[in-house]
Amino acid sequence: MKKWTIGVDVGGTEIKFGLFGDSLKEKWFIPTNVSEHGSHILPEIAETIVDKCRIFGVDITNLAGVGMGLPGPVPDGNMVRGCVNLGWSNVAAARELSELLAGAFSCQPEDIPVRAANDANVAALGEMWLGGGKSCKSLIMVTLGTGVGGGVVIDGRIYNGASGCAGEIGHIICVDEKDITGNCSCGNRGCLEQIASATGIVKYARHYLDETDIPSVLRELLREKGNISTKDVFDAGKNGDEAAEQIIDTVTKYLGRALAGISAVINPECILIGGGVSAAGEYLREKVAHHFREQAFSELKNTPVRLAVLGNEAGIFGAAYMMISERMREDSIL
Ligand SMILES: [Zn+2]
Repeated sequence: MKKWTIGVDVGGTEIKFGLFGDSLKEKWFIPTNVSEHGSHILPEIAETIVDKCRIFGVDITNLAGVGMGLPGPVPDGNMVRGCVNLGWSNVAAARELSELLAGAFSCQPEDIPVRAANDANVAALGEMWLGGGKSCKSLIMVTLGTGVGGGVVIDGRIYNGASGCAGEIGHIICVDEKDITGNCSCGNRGCLEQIASATGIVKYARHYLDETDIPSVLRELLREKGNISTKDVFDAGKNGDEAAEQIIDTVTKYLGRALAGISAVINPECILIGGGVSAAGEYLREKVAHHFREQAFSELKNTPVRLAVLGNEAGIFGAAYMMISERMREDSIL
């Protein structure tokens, strides 16, 4: 089996890279150049890969390929659709990168295979390989950041869905009318993202404080700073602030509801919670697990709910593992 693999995680502001041999040998990043409709992105990715291969003496004959996570739906391992924060419409990203690398290394595109998938799905695969989902072959991961994303891994492979939209956990409609604070960016009402993303939690906290008169440190913070953060809400909750505890209980009730619903379809071996909001740690995990158990189908209540552990490196790990696992399957090791 070829020794080297490269994992690429393409984001709207930076592109992360990992060079994997027996383990992660080198990681680096470049800024995302979104000028001219993102037309420089793939050439710049190819350029930096070629540079690092030269520096580390990675010979093309010993490079298994490149895996790439992209911030948009990727139904087929190649074409990403409507990748607005890169300035792309539909781009055959894997094929184009493979051709660029072949040109630079003076070989054929089939000598440098490139596979692409949605970044949240790729992160879930990374967590399955060497993160919080290690030892599981099927899992779901919910990513609580600016939005709510998710990834689905079934039998060790990313599940993309028919049009690349599998894992859009944030747009499951599960919020009761009384807790809805407005329309979701997708146009629907009551999406999980509206209450469980970093912005959603703050929005719901303000709504809760407006609707009740329970004394809370959050009211003082709002008066002093004019705003509150997700961290403020969790810190207050951890310190026993009654209003913050109520807010977090409601947020995690809907997370538990959505995850119980997905579990009834996927029956995963474990559920992972990642993204910036998961910095709230065990306090958040325990509450999501409680509400999950409360609402899950009886046979699924014992599904472990864990924290993701790879942070923003999950993408490069998962991207590399897409290629590594493909090669292992070809060699019948998996
Ligand atoms: Zn939505």
